[in-house]
Amino acid sequence: MTAFDALALAVTGVRGIKPYQPGKPIDEVEREYGIKNPIKLASNENPRGASTAARHALQNSTIDFGRYPDGTAQALKVKLASRLDVGIEQITMGNGSNDVLELVARVFAGPNDEIVYSAHAFAVYGLVTRSVGAECIVVDALQWGNDLDAMADAVTDRTRVVFIANPNNPTGTWSDQQALRHFLGVMPTTTVVVVDEAYCEYVGDSAYPNCVRWLGDFPNLIVTRTFSKVYGLAALRVGYGISSSTVADLLNRVRQPFNVNSVAQFAAMAALDDTEFVAASVAENHNERQRLYAELTKLGLDYIASGGNFVSVDVKRPAVDVYENMLQRGVIVRPVGAYGMPNHLRITVGVGEENTVMLNVLSQCLQVT
Ligand SMILES: *Cc1c(COP(=O)(O)O)cnc(C)c1O
Repeated sequence: MTAFDALALAVTGVRGIKPYQPGKPIDEVEREYGIKNPIKLASNENPRGASTAARHALQNSTIDFGRYPDGTAQALKVKLASRLDVGIEQITMGNGSNDVLELVARVFAGPNDEIVYSAHAFAVYGLVTRSVGAECIVVDALQWGNDLDAMADAVTDRTRVVFIANPNNPTGTWSDQQALRHFLGVMPTTTVVVVDEAYCEYVGDSAYPNCVRWLGDFPNLIVTRTFSKVYGLAALRVGYGISSSTVADLLNRVRQPFNVNSVAQFAAMAALDDTEFVAASVAENHNERQRLYAELTKLGLDYIASGGNFVSVDVKRPAVDVYENMLQRGVIVRPVGAYGMPNHLRITVGVGEENTVMLNVLSQCLQVT
């Protein structure tokens, strides 16, 4: 008898998956490098953490941990629907918006189908495509961003899904209203388009599209958003999709019934109400991002202008070396070689003091790397 070979038994798509590499956790850096309180600018979280109002609301809550959560997340969906001016039946809750991305792939694609996305796009698109056995069609980027014309050309009658991160992670690039609307207009009726708006709150440019308003025009459009970024709730895992009610019904058929826990639902509602916290976070990000641009230029480095709370910087040498060096000095950033960007570091915009320390450490590391 031959030995049990798990790899050979795994479905083809799964065999081709390289696991997602998260930003290095603070605990791990403390353990491995013996560094106290490293600065983490590696996962695009809100550097302020959760809002005080959301924290207080949670501390004073009377959630019964012995009970299953509300599987429909009714109260949260009612709040979201009113905020977004959509019907509650148009919302699909996710354990983070990554969960919704996977639901889309499971509902619409399988073996023999294609999913189109850009080079340097968010890693999860490739993961969910492979996990359902569909084929990844990766379209060359244009100045690091989505080349929407080339992506439209890449769509065939086998293309079930197109993923567009707007802004994209790790490049920070984004498509404007005119370009994206044109793209949606030329999509065949056999293709679903996901616009991933994880960082939409940060962009602050009048040319940036709010795709939720277009749902009535494009029944094949799905918009995803999250509480992990500006809302400061990354640990709790809550995100959502907004689509036609028909699409939401399909996504909800494969959604795990209790995918968003009670604590996350409660905190998300409080976070939604704290509009002041969101506004202050966005304003600080804007100022600090501008300061980073100026300081990076002084260091002789190029950066990709970003709509998000992170900046990808060309360090003009293998970025993993600079990353390692920065780690040893207590600053965690993210090398993005896995995204086809071996000379770039993706740096989350921190609060002022964090950015100052990061810039000093980066400057030191450039001299020795
Ligand atoms: C961070 C991020 C998300 C959000 O993931 P969650 O599962 O909601 O935490 C989605 N898309 C992109 C492009 C991201 O960078």
